[in-house]
Amino acid sequence: MASHIRNFCIIAHIDHGKSTLADRFLELTGTIEKRKMREQFLDQMELEREKGITIKMQPVRMLWRPPSTNYESSTNIRSVNSNIRKFETDSLFDDEYILNLIDTPGHVDFTYEVSRALAAVEGAILLVDGTQGIQAQTVANLALAQREGLVIIPVINKVDLPTCRIEDTREEISALLGCQEEDIFLVSGKTGEGIEELFRAVVQKIPPPGGKSKHFNAQTEKSSSLRALIFDSQFDAYKGVIAHVRIFNGEVRSKEKVRLVQAGAFFETLEVGEFTPALVKTERLESGMIGYIASGVKDVEKIRVGDTITEFRDEDAEPLPGYEEPKPVVFSSVYPEDADDYDHFRDALRKLKLNDSALFFEPESSLILGRGFRMGFLGMLHLEITDERLQREYGLRLIFSTPSVSYKIKAQSDEEEFVYSAAKFPDNRKGGEIQEPWVALNIISSEKYLGPVMSLLREARGRHLGTEYLGHGRVEIKEEAPLKEIIVDFYDRLKGITEGYGSLSYEILGYRAADLVKLDILVAGERRDEFSTIIPKDRAYEEGRRLTVKLKEILPRALFPIALQAAIGGDVIARETVPALKKDVTGYLYGGDRTRKMKLWKKQQRGKKRLKERGAGSIDIPPDVFMKMLKK
Ligand code: GDP
Ligand code: MG
Repeated sequence: MASHIRNFCIIAHIDHGKSTLADRFLELTGTIEKRKMREQFLDQMELEREKGITIKMQPVRMLWRPPSTNYESSTNIRSVNSNIRKFETDSLFDDEYILNLIDTPGHVDFTYEVSRALAAVEGAILLVDGTQGIQAQTVANLALAQREGLVIIPVINKVDLPTCRIEDTREEISALLGCQEEDIFLVSGKTGEGIEELFRAVVQKIPPPGGKSKHFNAQTEKSSSLRALIFDSQFDAYKGVIAHVRIFNGEVRSKEKVRLVQAGAFFETLEVGEFTPALVKTERLESGMIGYIASGVKDVEKIRVGDTITEFRDEDAEPLPGYEEPKPVVFSSVYPEDADDYDHFRDALRKLKLNDSALFFEPESSLILGRGFRMGFLGMLHLEITDERLQREYGLRLIFSTPSVSYKIKAQSDEEEFVYSAAKFPDNRKGGEIQEPWVALNIISSEKYLGPVMSLLREARGRHLGTEYLGHGRVEIKEEAPLKEIIVDFYDRLKGITEGYGSLSYEILGYRAADLVKLDILVAGERRDEFSTIIPKDRAYEEGRRLTVKLKEILPRALFPIALQAAIGGDVIARETVPALKKDVTGYLYGGDRTRKMKLWKKQQRGKKRLKERGAGSIDIPPDVFMKMLKK
């Protein structure tokens, strides 16, 4: 029954203790046997455990019958939350509740995961590490939750630590949320202090599913037809595409024919079930529940995150509001190290996309590297994680080109074109304007690092908007800067200069005019697209010199000298020459064995033929040269 269901998320800045708090909930509800419990249990991916961060949202269904001890007496056992306002009634507490929790990632690159999780629930625990106070992602994730109209339960975590600044953090949270200080819960995910009270509050304060929300329209109000929102998915070799769903209306069982509203496709459900967090088959999923629908469908492109599942007969079903397509901000050309892996790579990308719907890719090919994909990511960590997942989950070894952003090219006719690959940047632009994406940056740091942070921002071509003092020696810095300057190593450098205490969030503002040029590298007079980059005009000479000098070092020598040039448009701005090999191949056999000579000539001929196939006269550049060029 929906009145006994609660769906909620835990949101917070990275490392504030979401996954650890979830552990305590899993224990309290006996969802995980004690002997099977391990820290950050919901971080199920090996990669998450190694890195100590959550990458994927993870739903889990817990069953809980609140202990019948009345609330008054349980709080008499020394409680950190004795100041919390007493609930008006305990009458809710005599039954079993189904509590669906979704643990979420905290890093800015995975905000799309958070937003999809938020659309599937009615409430959110906003967790703030009391030793850190409010951080950039606290503010950003809260804004997302408020946009969804969720009930927010503010919580201060890590109260077991002597460095926990409870009073300061209380003030910060109540200023941010506009709530009373006595509405803020205190817990320790480590010792378990305050956890049960918080859990009661989840049942008390977060409304059961139902009621009016953006997911209800005139249609669903009247009928009991199935409406399931796909908020995530995964691929299973046996069960095909498994859709993670929130049921907003009606119910669904296994072996039932259902319709995908947006895709206009059908399938028969193979199995439905819940997350414990392992997938466990159930008889049905009813309105208000979070669970999964295994489709048996192997065509991975049919079932898409954001689509609505409805009954087969319901031909006029309107889709639930889905998700805005995430906009990739970082692009890179990606090639398998072994060209024979191309088909496997393509297949892997399609499957990974099910579990990472932010992933963008389109085919691309290169003279040097063969067939690959131009891929788009939500940030550098997303790129890194994707590389690791493709390696671990699909055994692929890949080459990534230097990441870049996407540029907008406005022609004089006002026509706009987006270019996210240097190779496709127009050579001879006449008039018009190039624009690059800018972001609004929000940095929270201790006041004592203000100087170094400001100079880092200046280097990043930032425009200062303002500094706000948050009290307790902490400042919030607002800036605007080109995205390109933020994506590569900005976050690491910020962490470095603030001794780990600075935090960052950013939001895309839009495109602004930029003074950019395309820098080409010519090898033996021929432009090699793989080396082209788009950079600010005033850095072009320096970069042109750096690239030609570096290429000279690593390009294998040939029988003849090879000219290396860096050029902007038609103008050469830097030049180097790779000297020829000293001897010609047969020279040292002069007068000697004729057959040996013939052999070598033949070999050379074959080499030349290969060159011809690749384009007359072009120099054969081995892929590892390209890889070495990418490393600074
Ligand atoms: P998440 O990124 O928000 O999921 O944070 P995690 O749950 O992975 O926790 C980050 C770190 O904080 C881990 O090293 C935890 O052991 C630690 N941690 C979490 N909660 C507490 C707490 O209440 N007290 C203390 N002392 N450490 C905690
Ligand atoms: Mg986590």
